[in-house]
Amino acid sequence: MKILVHVCCAPCFAYVHKRLSEEGHDITGYWYNPNIHPYMEYKARRDALKKYSKLENVKIVYESYDFIEYLKMQLKNTEKPDRCLNCYYYRMKKTAEYARKENFDAFTTTLLVSTYQYHEGIKKIGEELSKKYGIKFYYEDFREGFNEGKAITKLYSLYRQQYCGCLISEWERFGGKKIDD
Ligand code: SF4
Repeated sequence: MKILVHVCCAPCFAYVHKRLSEEGHDITGYWYNPNIHPYMEYKARRDALKKYSKLENVKIVYESYDFIEYLKMQLKNTEKPDRCLNCYYYRMKKTAEYARKENFDAFTTTLLVSTYQYHEGIKKIGEELSKKYGIKFYYEDFREGFNEGKAITKLYSLYRQQYCGCLISEWERFGGKKIDD
């Protein structure tokens, strides 16, 4: 199948790309992550993907960084799990629309690799978007490849992030909450 893969970061994409290519699928990556803040962090992650795609000769579509629109959406709900479910929907919706418009056979997301995300929520959103846009959602539990992705990252010396993406997640990761306690 010709599959459009939403890429959350190069380490997660490395495993999915390897796995789906081995199965004979034709893979195109789709970079759309306005949830990554601040901008220099966004750039570091995007550049890691550029480096990987060059080394592996894989096609990637780079979407714009609509940071303000994303923030407006996120500030309506800052608590987990809804904050994250909205964030997945925001990025996966655009992926499904693009896949439909460009006649891909299916779309999926590397969010399915992460052991830190709401896996069932991602699956549900994928299935919902599949019905809405009339395009197949390729589902696989990629979490078993989480460590393999990390190993590929090391091998290629790719940048690997320390927090999920948004400013709230950075604050949560580094203990900002404790300051207010
Ligand atoms: S923690 Fe991650 S998934 Fe959740 S809203 Fe922030 S960037 Fe999105």
